[in-house]
Amino acid sequence: MMREKIKKIVELLGELDVESNAAAAERALVSGLELPDIIRDVVDLLNPELKPYEAAIYMYMLRHSIVEAGNQMIRTSVRGLIKAGVVKSPYEGTRSGGGTVVATVSYKSIQTALEGLGEIGAIRQEADPNRDGTLYRVLLPEEIEVCRNARQAREAALPSSIIDERREADYYNVRENRMKIYERDNYHCRYCQKQLTRFTATLDHVQPVAESGDNSYGNLVTACIDCNSRKNVRPLGDFLAEKSAMPTIPT
Ligand SMILES: [Zn+2]
Repeated sequence: MMREKIKKIVELLGELDVESNAAAAERALVSGLELPDIIRDVVDLLNPELKPYEAAIYMYMLRHSIVEAGNQMIRTSVRGLIKAGVVKSPYEGTRSGGGTVVATVSYKSIQTALEGLGEIGAIRQEADPNRDGTLYRVLLPEEIEVCRNARQAREAALPSSIIDERREADYYNVRENRMKIYERDNYHCRYCQKQLTRFTATLDHVQPVAESGDNSYGNLVTACIDCNSRKNVRPLGDFLAEKSAMPTIPT
């Protein structure tokens, strides 16, 4: 009887392992296109507004939501955050007697940091807690009022003429412009019609850069990472023959 129970548990663990491999494969599909801009905004606009524990927790939540899963949701708890070692206790260190003191950070200080993140609008509780924790939405600097204000103040201080010209023409490197392409294409891959999010979408040059294609509105389409990388390694004609779908570019 005991033996059977153990066998069953091993089987279940095996299934869990398959699931986590599938999750890992899914993670690999997160587009790197938006991340540098997001990280830059977090460092420039959000971190100055946060206390150290808040900043550490926000980065942890960002990493385990958008960066790894491609969406803004994460389920976590005070205990989970402590267990993950997201912040270390300031009292941790070597005792004069030689032994290491491993004081865990207090429940209260993590709780306070979560509340602080909620108050500033960096995270939002989406549902009542269950035994796995609370479901939070991790908000991006552009969705957080203090960050929007900070950005406005910065941009007002910048000379704009040269920047404006570049911004108008470049739909690849300028984030606001990239969003216009995604929105035009309704966050669908133009090749296979897969529904994407801002974090899984990539931009594909219809006429490749290597063949003097530019970053204009008309030369970029939303693509999933699969189609984008498949298309890159073969001529466009072959790719479209296989996919039998020309990307439709609205004017
Ligand atoms: Zn696709």
